[in-house]
Amino acid sequence: MLPLLVRQSTLFPKTQKTAPSDAESINHKLLVRAGFMDQLMAGSWTLMPLGLRVVGKINQIIREEMNEVGGQELAMPLLHPKSIWNESGRWDTAKEVMYQFKDIHEKEFALSFTHEEIVMDLLRKQITSYRDLPVYVYQFSTKFRNELRAKSGILRGREFMMKDLYSAHTSEEDLMAYYEKVKAAYVKVFTRLGFNFKVTLASGGVFTDKNTHEFQVLSEAGEDTIYFKDGSMEAVNDEVFEGNKDEYISAKSIEVGNIFPLGTWYAEKMGVFFTDQDGVKKPVWFGSYGIGPTRVMGVLVEVNHDDKGIVWPEVVAPFAVHLISLGQNNLNKAEEVAKKLTDLGHEVLWDDRDIAAGAKFADSDLIGIPHRIIISDKTGDSLEYKNRKSGETSLVSFEELLKVI
Ligand code: ATP
Ligand code: MG
Repeated sequence: MLPLLVRQSTLFPKTQKTAPSDAESINHKLLVRAGFMDQLMAGSWTLMPLGLRVVGKINQIIREEMNEVGGQELAMPLLHPKSIWNESGRWDTAKEVMYQFKDIHEKEFALSFTHEEIVMDLLRKQITSYRDLPVYVYQFSTKFRNELRAKSGILRGREFMMKDLYSAHTSEEDLMAYYEKVKAAYVKVFTRLGFNFKVTLASGGVFTDKNTHEFQVLSEAGEDTIYFKDGSMEAVNDEVFEGNKDEYISAKSIEVGNIFPLGTWYAEKMGVFFTDQDGVKKPVWFGSYGIGPTRVMGVLVEVNHDDKGIVWPEVVAPFAVHLISLGQNNLNKAEEVAKKLTDLGHEVLWDDRDIAAGAKFADSDLIGIPHRIIISDKTGDSLEYKNRKSGETSLVSFEELLKVI
């Protein structure tokens, strides 16, 4: 479990007054300035303690919804032998995105950019009969992709986190029924995250010619263009759109999730068969379903910020309360309030630093914790409350504070 109370005097790293000079996107500027992440090289990020807290909360929301549709969490290797990628042919067809290399013995490997082939290898060792199906497994792991344009902050990493779920079935009907269930689970995830998003018909990318569904968050920072009718949850990606564009609303959007009905293509290539009830050997029906939690964190910042900083939605905020004590004479009082809050299970970042009030408020706005409490010589027995999103302030008692948070 995460520590409930963190003293800002000990928090690594400090905030920065200005954004890195190469930062082009809002998420890059704000997440680096506020101390949530750091760039090692283009497309490669350290998640700092604050950033890891946020991603952990995003992951927990995803995990709950994956478990709800029967998903079982596992962890697969990230270092893969060339041979497994040759079986599907993707060693060659996906060369541009895969990091491929030789070790000192001239043996060839790739770093994971996705896991279909690895799951297929698991299935062919474990599945013999229709009784062994369906299978629903998922993981959270690092994916490596040689992205050409790694310029949009954490939206496009060369190394990033993905939740990938895989399902295997005895029939197309069973696959498609589960596909719809996962689609509904994704709608729940992105609704819980507070996104304004569309379930978008799209092409299969490197996977297949069959249509897939992307979950696209409306944002000017997006690289995709989608079309939808007013009020509709559904949209069509520009890449597969057919018809009269004048009848639709068009918008820029960012893909946060993608689900793929993959059919029997992989099973046939890699020899994953089961014996059905009728005694006949058949290939398994397969689907894969991805969400990028680190991209999700970036998108949350793109759509939840103002000119002062980030405005985290409560469900993923690194802390619920930002407690700010002014004056070293108020430290004891602040510690008491912090203790009472954490005893009730609330997560508190306590700014106990001996610095100017203005600097504390600026950092607080930048970091973007939803509820701010100030304890100073002026507040007496009350607490000064400020809501990060609405900017509203009020003097409250501890009991009144508990009702708000
Ligand atoms: P894009 O079209 O944006 O390059 P993709 O279609 O190649 O993404 P998928 O293979 O569908 O990506 O991956 C599933 C999810 O993983 C995406 O919906 C996204 O949330 C996330 N993702 C993909 N590529 C990246 C990346 N380079 N950095 C961060 N997250 C990513
Ligand atoms: Mg995609």
